[in-house]
Amino acid sequence: MLRQNESRALIRKYLDDPRVPWRHKRSEMMAITGIIPVAKWLAKIKRRSDVSCRLCKRAREQRGASNENLLGETYGHISSAFCDALGMATTVTAAHHFIWRHLYTSLQAAQTLASKLRFVTPDKESSINALWQEEEFEQ
Ligand SMILES: [Zn+2]
Repeated sequence: MLRQNESRALIRKYLDDPRVPWRHKRSEMMAITGIIPVAKWLAKIKRRSDVSCRLCKRAREQRGASNENLLGETYGHISSAFCDALGMATTVTAAHHFIWRHLYTSLQAAQTLASKLRFVTPDKESSINALWQEEEFEQ
């Protein structure tokens, strides 16, 4: 909130934008004020006793996995990669791969003929063991 262009003025600009649907503005205001009806908040106002994430529970049940050690359902949890539901993990992984490809391409474009740096995994991730075998390094 103290960074330039990431302040309350930006939130005000978002909330004043007539192109933003009301339901999005409402969700943003609920998140800012901490009253999103997630299990943790519902437990706080005594409307629910279990604070574990209902989305994770449902996703695990669909996969046939155990419901032990469910994390607490908070706004931060649901919007993070730690929530089993909503495909956040998939989204975060895709973002990681996108950024990695961008970095790789940028680093490769910045190389000169004198560069001794060589990228061995341009389009995939590999373990050190796999790289060692593929490159046929000698120990
Ligand atoms: Zn969850």
